[in-house]
Amino acid sequence: MDRQQEYVLRAIEERDIRFIRVWFTDVVGTLKSVAVAPAELESAFEEGLGFDGSAIEGFSRITESDMLVKPDPATFQVLPWRGQPPVTARMFADIHTPDGSPSPGDPRQVLRRALDKAADMGFTFYTHPEIEFFLFEPPIVPGEAPRPIDQAGYFDHVADSRGQDFRREAIGVLESMGISVEFSHHEGAPGQNEIDLRYADALSTADNIMTFRTVVKELAAQAGCYASFMPKPLSGHPGSGMHTHLSLFEGENNAFYEAGAPYQLSRIGRQFIAGLLRHGAEISAVTNQWVNSYKRLWGGGEAPAHICWGHNNSSAMVRVPLYKPGKENSCRIEVRTLDPACNPYLAFAVLLTAGLAGIENSYELPDEAEDDVWRLTDAERHALGILPLPSSLDEAIGAMSRSELVADALGEHVFDVFLRNKRREWTDYRAQVTPFELERLLPLL
Ligand code: GLU
Ligand code: MG
Ligand code: MG
Repeated sequence: MDRQQEYVLRAIEERDIRFIRVWFTDVVGTLKSVAVAPAELESAFEEGLGFDGSAIEGFSRITESDMLVKPDPATFQVLPWRGQPPVTARMFADIHTPDGSPSPGDPRQVLRRALDKAADMGFTFYTHPEIEFFLFEPPIVPGEAPRPIDQAGYFDHVADSRGQDFRREAIGVLESMGISVEFSHHEGAPGQNEIDLRYADALSTADNIMTFRTVVKELAAQAGCYASFMPKPLSGHPGSGMHTHLSLFEGENNAFYEAGAPYQLSRIGRQFIAGLLRHGAEISAVTNQWVNSYKRLWGGGEAPAHICWGHNNSSAMVRVPLYKPGKENSCRIEVRTLDPACNPYLAFAVLLTAGLAGIENSYELPDEAEDDVWRLTDAERHALGILPLPSSLDEAIGAMSRSELVADALGEHVFDVFLRNKRREWTDYRAQVTPFELERLLPLL
């Protein structure tokens, strides 16, 4: 047993922890949890816990129904919202096949593989997300528009506000779990909030996003409201994105920084963006995986819709924040497409793979898009070589299914299962007669 595993066993004994939740995700990023008694943990570390994975999306090939769940001791944390004893803790797990090799269906392993590839090229991948979400009044009635808990807007400071109290509470819980928060504020839509996490290596960030979604849902339920990460829950108001800032480090040095270059952005940084743009359409089904994601991307509200980059351009897929003198380490790029309902492991894996392809193949970065891309005509955008992002899940699935890069990044198994899952969603959606059609067409036709 290694030192981290020993530390966990000791902490469990000293703090009288009775339940250990072992967390992992399915292919679309739904959190899965199994509670383990402390007495089982030693063998869970050594051999893994055996489960039948056949009912979990992504692990569902009959021949692969047996899976081994191995908790990662580095992720051990007490769950603060469980309050009084018996104390409950959690660890994220890696999934293995019965022969001990990494399970091809495990999203965390997909990200590990992409990170290994970056490490082979000499890079560590850092990310920090700006997570937007809504707080609604319960009950949530399927098929009815949700009711936001307030009518405030961007950066509004509202006295005695539930949103503000909620953010304060959530940040306290996150910090007590070792997740540092940098900023938080009311976002542009009624009931919409944003909390930004401090940068960390991409695997920790993906784990942190899973924890964040759970903490926010749990605390909202305790506060008598409903938290949603749905990308576009309200027509006519901005949706929720998860803009994510990315950087590559070579040892101690930020590989995106180059003194004197435009925006102090190095050649590696420019090639990385070029990779993101060239593969932008192919990776979209992963960064924006729901039918509803495309309502956000094509619904205004400062969401991006075009495959281009700029330094201050809310309609662009990638933004290069202005460099602050003396802050070499914070030189980074911001990807604005992601939404908070993605599977963060898979989303980071495809972003990283696309960026690394730009470096490996020395892609040339196209010119910066200076203008608000929305204001240009189709012909002007075409002349500038600016392509649109997929306009629907259907288009995104099409682009992904032709992508060698995404197949490579996800591995054949996750690639197939993911596409199958998303095709099913699209087919179900396409068969629906929507309120729009009934309202607009029934009185006319
Ligand atoms: N809510 C916007 C989006 O969907 C982003 C607003 C902002 O710039 O933070 O991406
Ligand atoms: Mg925001
Ligand atoms: Mg942003």
